Amino acid sequence: MADFDCDLFVIGAGSGGVRAARMAAMTGAKVLVAEEHRVGGTCVIRGCVPKKFMVYASELSKSFSTARGYGWTVPEPSFDWPRFIAAKDDEIARLSGIYVRNLQNAGAELVHGRAVLKDRHTVSIEGKGELRAAKVLVATGGRPWMPDDVEGIEHAISSEEAFHLAELPRRIVVAGGGYIALEFAGIFAGLGVETTVVHRGPNVLRGFDDDIRSHVAEEMEQAGVHIRLGVKISRIEKGPGGLTVVCDDGRRIEADQVMFALGRAPHTKGLGLEAAGVALADNGAVKVDDYSRTNVDNIWAVGDVTDRINLTPVAIREGSAFAMTEFQGKPTTFDHEMVASAVFTQPAVGSVGLSEADARHQYGKVDIYLAKFRPMKETFYGGHSRAMVKLVVEAGSERILGCHVVAPDAPEIIQMAAIALKMGVTKPQWDSTCAVHPTLAEELVTMRDKHVPPALGQAA
Ligand code: NDP
Repeated sequence: MADFDCDLFVIGAGSGGVRAARMAAMTGAKVLVAEEHRVGGTCVIRGCVPKKFMVYASELSKSFSTARGYGWTVPEPSFDWPRFIAAKDDEIARLSGIYVRNLQNAGAELVHGRAVLKDRHTVSIEGKGELRAAKVLVATGGRPWMPDDVEGIEHAISSEEAFHLAELPRRIVVAGGGYIALEFAGIFAGLGVETTVVHRGPNVLRGFDDDIRSHVAEEMEQAGVHIRLGVKISRIEKGPGGLTVVCDDGRRIEADQVMFALGRAPHTKGLGLEAAGVALADNGAVKVDDYSRTNVDNIWAVGDVTDRINLTPVAIREGSAFAMTEFQGKPTTFDHEMVASAVFTQPAVGSVGLSEADARHQYGKVDIYLAKFRPMKETFYGGHSRAMVKLVVEAGSERILGCHVVAPDAPEIIQMAAIALKMGVTKPQWDSTCAVHPTLAEELVTMRDKHVPPALGQAA
């Protein structure tokens, strides 16, 4: 330590960086954390948390009509976007403040400003000079990726600006068919915005189970989202009446806002990683081993900047494993298998383990259990929304390889299912679990008949 100003210098105060910094500082190590924006990172400031508030706000619109079906007299509701945004900003400021206090309470020192590596140990902090760190953790996250081949892209926003729009648009076009595009499409549609998704692929949510993908797309369409598949946006024209999106099939869509959500790129540009000798992948992600160590032995990286599984809880676990290994003397890796994820569409998706297609590819013969149904809350008032549950089971061992749910509470349900799947639960063990009645989730433990996909059924 004699040659160094600190034991650990963390670049980026997001989920992964903050967790690692706090755990390292609590061992008595001298830890500095640099943040050029606000403490909390993507999740707290411009991602999961404000997005969830927007989902809550959006979902309430359906509650008014549901309430009428349940006997309530509900006057015509109206929504005040600026009031919601102000309340959301207050809450985000409160949460960011908690992150700051947690760092301080752990004994870590926060440095406001952009940090750039000059070499493997030397960090320069904008306007504050240089210092030498024994260990460096890069936790700078990702940034929205905007294409450069779309004429008029300067008229489009990313999800980051969507959190701060001065007014709610009347019409929006959302480009992309992934997590962010679909979550925001659901949010805007729920708030009464005429919403169109434009996606290049044959279906949304690539990587998820095919039945889930189709079911989500159908449900979103039914909820009023227009989903245009197999097309790309080639041009955005700005005129006196707003924006016109021109697609590569010639279709023109009028809009007040156009939001691009075509993925996020690791934030590694201009950080001095080249000067420090840190190896990057072709997409700019920091290459790391199972211990999140880079090719430079005093530099580690965790979270979205490494582009492994880009989810907040994963970044936290990677940051935690790093701190345990390097500061608590307990070598620890995070297991990236069987990580559950949720997409906060309306209805939402919860998914853990393999899709049917991946399971067939890896295991050959699999059994499928699948149910689609209108939950009792819907049937009571004549609602049309349908839930879907699906299990993918290895035929020989009967181990459950994948569990997929589309339902309003799917993210809550899948958290519990993930425990069982992570423990290697088999279908007979799963079935021995008694149902909780009346719930939507009970359907998961009462499926006894194997599902025969239509194509296989015809062949048989
Ligand atoms: P995704 O990778 O989920 O989706 C990107 C979408 O953009 C895909 O539909 C992709 O199509 C499309 N796309 C990519 N390149 C092009 C292109 N050149 N032209 C047209 N379409 C293109 O990224 P997101 O931005 O939605 O989210 C980033 C990450 O953030 C997610 O992967 C996830 O890890 C995380 N996240 C997690 C959330 C959660 O946990 N609920 C919420 C939000 C984000 P194709 O499928 O054909 O490749």
